[in-house]
Amino acid sequence: SPSLVVSRLAYAYPDGTQALYGVDLTIRRGERVALLGPNGAGKTTLVMHLNGILTAGHGTVEVGGLPVRAGTLPEIRRRVGLVFQDPDDQLFMPTVREDVAFGPANLGLRGAELDRRVRDALERVGMLDALDRPPHHLSFGQRRRVAVATVLAMEPEILVLDEPSSNLDPASRRELAEILRSLDVTVLMVTHDLPYALELCERSLVMSEGVIAADGPTRTLLADE
Ligand code: ADP
Ligand code: ADP
Repeated sequence: SPSLVVSRLAYAYPDGTQALYGVDLTIRRGERVALLGPNGAGKTTLVMHLNGILTAGHGTVEVGGLPVRAGTLPEIRRRVGLVFQDPDDQLFMPTVREDVAFGPANLGLRGAELDRRVRDALERVGMLDALDRPPHHLSFGQRRRVAVATVLAMEPEILVLDEPSSNLDPASRRELAEILRSLDVTVLMVTHDLPYALELCERSLVMSEGVIAADGPTRTLLADE
């Protein structure tokens, strides 16, 4: 089954603001997709439906074939790994090791299996050396990579990143791009950084006023802008 299937998803906030007007979207396993569009287009609202922070007014969301609904939320939240824009919203333990272990420990993993998950996730983002360091001693770019590792340690079906290149210096930007390219996981990234989308995502979605207004090869979409 695909990583993500969104069907006829519509949503209005309690104050009546209609944020999504019927979104249809399929993302196949292993695709890297950019979610573009102006402020207010509905990107955040759509992302919040992928892991059930918001639940559909109308329509459905399925992750790896599992529908998002009240009874599936624990498994959905394991399958949908959200990387926030600010890594400091995601790192709160005394050491990197404890931050990355937090999610899998909550799943019940212990001992050698837990240790393997933590090391594997940190290795994939090039931060294994930081295992026993306090996150606040790391650079911003390093903290963002550790935040990605906290999510990878859950072995998600889909990795969703909010503005992954924001506030990064050119070297950190390049490092993160290489990391994201090397992962064998489905990626959806919300971004205003068109060069980053072009570099990393073969496919882009452009949201506008609560619908997906364009969906196609990033190269083609950006040439049309
Ligand atoms: P992003 O920078 O990710 O696009 P926004 O700037 O659109 O996010 O929104 C930031 C926060 O403000 C979100 O939690 C969003 O739900 C909230 N928000 C945005 N627009 C409104 C609104 N009209 N009324 C209330 N909250 C809003
Ligand atoms: P984006 O992430 O693309 O900036 P959002 O999903 O944050 O867009 O917003 C989509 C629409 O929903 C906008 O009109 C925004 O003002 C509105 N909105 C967002 N959050 C809220 C909220 N908590 N209450 C009311 N309206 C909101």
